[in-house]
Amino acid sequence: MFKKILIANRGEIACRVIKTAQRLGVKTVAVYSEADALARHVGLADEAYCIGPAAAKDSYLRGDKILETAKNCGAQAVHPGYGFLSENADFAEDCAKSGLVFIGPPPAAIRAMGSKSAAKDIMGKAGVPLVPGYHGEAQEAALLQKEADKIGYPVLIKASAGGGGKGMRIVEKAADFAAALASCQRESKASFGDERVLLEKYLTRPRHIEIQVFADTQGDALYLFERDCSVQRRHQKVLEEAPAPGMSQARRNSMGEAAVAAAKAIGYVGAGTVEFIAEPGDGKKSAGTFYFMEMNTRLQVEHPVTEMITGLDLVEWQLRVACGEPLPRAQDELAINGHALEARIYAEDPDKNFLPSTGRITHLAAPAESRHVRIDTGVCAGDAITPFYDPMIAKLIVWDLDRPSALARMRGALEQFQVVGVSTNTEFLARLVSCEAFAKADLDTGLIERNRAELMPAPPLAGDEVLALAALAELLAIERRAKERAAGSGDPFSPWGSCDGWRLNQDNHHILIFRQGDREQAVTAHYRPGRFELELPGGRHSLTGAWQADGSLTAWLENAVLQANVVRSGQTLDVFFRGTRYQLELHDPALHEIDTDAHGGNLRAPMPGKIIAVLTKSGAKVEKGTPLIILEAMKMEHTIVAPGRGTVKEIHYKVGEQVNEGAELLGFELDKD
Ligand code: ADP
Repeated sequence: MFKKILIANRGEIACRVIKTAQRLGVKTVAVYSEADALARHVGLADEAYCIGPAAAKDSYLRGDKILETAKNCGAQAVHPGYGFLSENADFAEDCAKSGLVFIGPPPAAIRAMGSKSAAKDIMGKAGVPLVPGYHGEAQEAALLQKEADKIGYPVLIKASAGGGGKGMRIVEKAADFAAALASCQRESKASFGDERVLLEKYLTRPRHIEIQVFADTQGDALYLFERDCSVQRRHQKVLEEAPAPGMSQARRNSMGEAAVAAAKAIGYVGAGTVEFIAEPGDGKKSAGTFYFMEMNTRLQVEHPVTEMITGLDLVEWQLRVACGEPLPRAQDELAINGHALEARIYAEDPDKNFLPSTGRITHLAAPAESRHVRIDTGVCAGDAITPFYDPMIAKLIVWDLDRPSALARMRGALEQFQVVGVSTNTEFLARLVSCEAFAKADLDTGLIERNRAELMPAPPLAGDEVLALAALAELLAIERRAKERAAGSGDPFSPWGSCDGWRLNQDNHHILIFRQGDREQAVTAHYRPGRFELELPGGRHSLTGAWQADGSLTAWLENAVLQANVVRSGQTLDVFFRGTRYQLELHDPALHEIDTDAHGGNLRAPMPGKIIAVLTKSGAKVEKGTPLIILEAMKMEHTIVAPGRGTVKEIHYKVGEQVNEGAELLGFELDKD
């Protein structure tokens, strides 16, 4: 076994690899960017070295610096994690040239599968069924249009070099093809440095099922069963499970054998995943016809569900195989035990089309880990989610004997996951695992879209109990501030420092106004000895309460005991109560409000990014929905569209310029009628 390895990655996967290495007694070296100096993976590793500024291209993608670091600190091997350099054949080759073991497949295997088009060629020749489409070398727009027409709409345009759901466009009709192609090529160029695309028939209700394979340097290969990753948003996985519901043993065997044959065909070594897309079968749950989609030549984000049902540690296997050891088990020694689910907790806003949300995590609470619950994370409270890297906060993995029990575990665990400071998808995930379609395993990639109304309801409105909790948190804060002021003044007993609402010639009460969207609710708190009397929308109630040692808040509202977490950031109060998060704005009438946007106003950047196209001119008259500016943020394109019919005023940015979140991009005047 290696004595020391370097992990050329960050976040949860770096932490995940370190954990196994430490269990095996292997020393670990972390690398980090300037933005990650205090990151969790840096703290966990035995040694850590800074390799450059925040932007990935200046740090985590700097293969030269990473190899120099590895050599200087005496590491014997490099684990690339996923993303960054993990599927970069040149980097794998450079590792070997520097005398380091690349913990992954040989460069030739990475190259063979690196392009989705080339991979399809190889698989097609090996007799694996492919989705009808075009994956040729010629890339002229007119030819691609002709091929798309031939396939028949809807057609999917994919970046040949694509990954992570990026660089894909669904085209519904021939007239939309040219614009979608241009946009897909732009995004592919920006994200992958390669604008080649392929075309596929767009399947309307497919399932995504993938096979985990493993191969060693002795030429042996096996499969560790399947994962179902059909539940996706923006073509990116959010919930994964193993085994795949409805999978027959015969189907599992034949897919597994096909995947192993694929791995052997390219001389594969290490962990890999062969992804298939399946058209629905006759019965809703049955697996249908499978087509090869692509092979990922690395460890997948969702590998923990495979570990949970097999009881194996895939990172340990990676290290052993990279050392030249044979596969630790034979195919007939592997078995599926129980059912595992993984939910990806992202800093993103489901109500804004899952746009990543950046900011500092001010509060982070997670369920306790156990035999049933596993959390893979790279962040801690106080860390920032920046536009530089993937906005994933954690992977929540649960295991139980069967799918319904695992689902119940997941619901319980999600309820306990609380994050403040950035928007997250936790409540969305909780609704997702509770929705009927998912519970019944009626899975396909359109599940989220089809159940949008149920999955993305209007934010829950605060009732009397929640208002009482928010009011209590605020009243206790006022009390604390008053005490601090009194303690800091010359006269700690002055009535001016008192916190019981005592006022000269005034009724002793405090009015708190809470806002949720357009809704405003007032709570009047009357100070009484040792308690408050609250005037809530539903009536007058007596209230007392206190903060607990663990940071939670206990309130006694009449004779009911209420338990919650209340986190204040600025004027926002996040109340986590009975599994639901309520966001309340504390309205201070003293604050003057300027809301230019409501008066027609300005279009702002939804997140920090770079302007990559300005599609309009000042003075242009446009219709609602007209694309005006394209912003690239987190390697994705975001199109800013006209909010209504109107006139473009001044445009504040040029192509290539960086903008901050909330920056005014252009002035816009809505037509009066
Ligand atoms: P990436 O490498 O970016 O993850 P994939 O080729 O693996 O891209 O596809 C990602 C997802 O997009 C799939 O899991 C599936 O949901 C959807 N998808 C891919 N190809 C098709 C297709 N031909 N028809 C319908 N959906 C597809």
